[in-house]
Amino acid sequence: MIIVLEQKVTEEKKAHIRRFLEKRGYQVREIVGEVETIFGAVGTPGIDLREVELLDGVSKVVPITKPYKLASRELKKDDSVVSIGPVKFGGGRISVIAGPCAVESREQIFAVAEAVSKAGAVVLRGGAFKPRTSPYAFQGLGELGLSYMKEAGEAYGLPITSEIVSPAHVEMMASYVDAFQIGARNMQNFELLKEVGASGLPVILKRGLCATIEEWLMAAEYLMAHGTDNVVLCERGIRTFERYTRNTLDLSAIPVVKKLSHLPVIVDPSHGTGLRGKVIPMGLAAAAAGADGLMVEVHTNPDEALSDGPQTLFPEQFEKLMRDIEAMTPVLGKSLEHIPRRKPFSAARKPADEGENLAAFQGVPGAYSEEALRQYFHESFQPKACRHFRDVFEAVASGECRYGIIPVENSLAGVINENLDLLLRYPDCRVVGEKEIRIVHSLIAKPGTKLADIRRVYSHPQGLAQCEAFLDTLSGAERVPFFDTAGAVAYIAQQEDAQAAAIAGGGAADYYGMEVLKEGIETNPRNYTRFYIITREETDETGGREPNRMIMVFSTPDEPGALFKCLKILAEHGLNMKKLESRPIHGKPWEYMFFVETEIPGRTSYEAAVEQLRTASEDFRILGSFYTRK
Ligand code: PEP
Ligand code: MN
Repeated sequence: MIIVLEQKVTEEKKAHIRRFLEKRGYQVREIVGEVETIFGAVGTPGIDLREVELLDGVSKVVPITKPYKLASRELKKDDSVVSIGPVKFGGGRISVIAGPCAVESREQIFAVAEAVSKAGAVVLRGGAFKPRTSPYAFQGLGELGLSYMKEAGEAYGLPITSEIVSPAHVEMMASYVDAFQIGARNMQNFELLKEVGASGLPVILKRGLCATIEEWLMAAEYLMAHGTDNVVLCERGIRTFERYTRNTLDLSAIPVVKKLSHLPVIVDPSHGTGLRGKVIPMGLAAAAAGADGLMVEVHTNPDEALSDGPQTLFPEQFEKLMRDIEAMTPVLGKSLEHIPRRKPFSAARKPADEGENLAAFQGVPGAYSEEALRQYFHESFQPKACRHFRDVFEAVASGECRYGIIPVENSLAGVINENLDLLLRYPDCRVVGEKEIRIVHSLIAKPGTKLADIRRVYSHPQGLAQCEAFLDTLSGAERVPFFDTAGAVAYIAQQEDAQAAAIAGGGAADYYGMEVLKEGIETNPRNYTRFYIITREETDETGGREPNRMIMVFSTPDEPGALFKCLKILAEHGLNMKKLESRPIHGKPWEYMFFVETEIPGRTSYEAAVEQLRTASEDFRILGSFYTRK
């Protein structure tokens, strides 16, 4: 049952309710949500729910109708975020696990770890105890394999996971792995589930070869009932009559499970298809279907692999898969998880303590900038709304917020010049990352409003312009320009105007208790906005990776070929220019600063180019550098 606690319940009352339930044989979990705190009580004692409802501090009691309780969405409405080492699964991330089917040697696991970490995998996989169909096939290196894998994981900063096949291995394996993997063949090995669950370590739970979704969730329930809250479900294909693929990868299970359970769901397209050529398309399809991540088999020499070679990707194929997923993330509204390696603030410039975890954006809550900020930082930073772009820079420069996010260009409307100018005016603020989101406009109105009633539509002029074709279908509706999109929603929420609507992102409707009348009303769906992440420090937001993109700004002497000379330096050092903008220099009519974004192929060529540019140009400055997959 779910016990919803009163909003201001005291710790004392909570302890009393917990004692009451535990004494009657229930297991109790506290779940703190955004709106309410609940106790989930599971077990079989038959008591009258009214007895619980009468307890002091209880607001209401709701029975859980599903046979799985702790894993159920009824118990927990928000998505669970599961941590494996420093890496997170769920909550808007796509987290990718990769590695060989089996650990074969120290050299092999090191080589694969290097390749997959370079391509962006965040967890290293590898079997040490292989449950093979034939007793004569390679059975794995056992504990020695785990020790090689632990070493390789540490060398490349990757947490590791490996399959456990026997309850007797729990203690030994717990000293090596960051997460247990329960294989398809063991999904209903209940003694194993109990022991693994009791270890408290995170678990990746594969779906059994012939398991229904409910049986799979019941297996998760076993793990959770015995002590771990950190379960990642993994769809890996089920047995059907089809024999062309090794299994039938059931991607429809993803939206089904996401509705039934709060647990993250990942997909293993390697075992799911059994064929290398099918892994990339099905991996992309899994991401499109809403998977929170992938588990992929990769080997530096798959043709020599001791197990599952035919379904194992070459490192270059894995790299392509990662690039393609990254390209999909703006459409999915997610971000690819990377290993967080954050440098602490330097003591001299430390902001107020609370600023440590704040990130500033311009606009009111529900703005697209806030959406970008959430997709980039997830729950690790609190958004702070600022009125103007300048305020975002101020908040970062003063140390009030550790980070800021600023839009720099929209794929339809072009560059946001004000922010380029502000980058010049705030030399303390450096660009350390970028985030691209897809702009999906919605028509938002008060709950109960009908499309036919709308007479006035408020939005930022850009929002109105980008939805022109749709607005033409609302005959006679006046278009009212407003200072920002989410601000328009906030405004009509306060008005007594039953004929008003606003155009903004769907998030604004949730925030102001309004209703989306129609989603995706933009004329051109290929509408993206790119943001820069700014901070005062050279932090390691790039996930410890060498930056491969640099933004610089300079002016040139007033002479023939001056800009050409600077660009020639880029060309000579192999720095591929991705963007060139010019902005007027304030106070110097008809003189310009040039903003250049370039790829950095390697440290030496980059340093040599910068040195030459400093002499060839005037006022040369680097505005920042970061890692991007583009
Ligand atoms: C594996 O991932 O190594 C494995 C054996 O997978 P499954 O249990 O899904 O067959
Ligand atoms: Mn395998």
